[in-house]
Order: sequence, then structure tokens, then C-alpha cells
Amino acid sequence: MTKEELMRKAIALSIENVKRDGGPFGAVIAKDGEIVATGVNRVTDSCDPTAHAEVSAIRAAAEKLKTFDLSGYEIYSSCEPCPMCLGAIYWARLDKLYFANTKTDAKDIGFDDSFIYEELELKLEDRALKAETLLRNEAIVAFEDWMKKDNKTEY
Ligand SMILES: [Zn+2]
Repeated sequence: MTKEELMRKAIALSIENVKRDGGPFGAVIAKDGEIVATGVNRVTDSCDPTAHAEVSAIRAAAEKLKTFDLSGYEIYSSCEPCPMCLGAIYWARLDKLYFANTKTDAKDIGFDDSFIYEELELKLEDRALKAETLLRNEAIVAFEDWMKKDNKTEY
């Protein structure tokens, strides 16, 4: 499949998902023009705020391929990813991101993730999400154990 055909598949998934009362988002993960996994937004029907199309596609691809490293694969998303999905795309080490609708298009229909992008620019104390450091001296033990461990699976 060409990249346009792969994107049309992501778009078709997004349109079908609206008919199923899901959010208007779809994603496809592919390599060499072959689809390995797809995902749609399942936030409302699965009661999972992280079940965005891109995260769903990454989970499906990783499970199918039995790896957490999707290097060599590309993701086609019907919409520009939110910060969570963009982070997931980096963590999955996907080679390239294609998107169709922009985050501005999403904002125009009520899916405004620009505030999260704006939050990331702010200092911790200036963010809407209140946060504080707690028991760092106890939590650091896990990090020290990780550093000492010889047979760990690095990711
Ligand atoms: Zn997302």
C-alpha cells in the first residue's frame, strides 16, 4: 500500500468509529506498505482515558509482534497526536509519523489538547495540575536496584 492508501485506512477507521459512537480517530501501524496493526479511539466504550487510536494501535502492534520496540515501523494517524500519544510514539521508537487532521482541527470540534502542550511549557508550580515531590529518598531505592541489576531488559 502507498502512504496515501495507509492514511486512507486510518481515516476510514476514524469515520467508522464515529458510527460506532467512538471518537473520530483512527491509526494504522505499517512497515514496507503492509499494515501490522490498527487502532481506534475507545475511550468511552472501554472507560479508558488512555485508549486513544495511536496508543491502541501501538498496543496491538506490540502484542502482535511480541516486542516493545517498533523501530522500522511507521504510524499513520487520522489526527495529529495529543502529547500522550506523541510520547507513546517516541517510547515505541516508531520511525515516522504521518497525520491528516491537525490539532487545530481537533480543537475546533472540542478535542482541545493544546492546553496540555501549553502546560508542558510551564514550570511545575505554574501548571493547572498541582504536583509535589514526596518520599524521593525512599523511591530512589528502585532506581539504585535497577542500576545494580546485571540481567535487566533495557528499553
Ligand atoms: Zn492521544
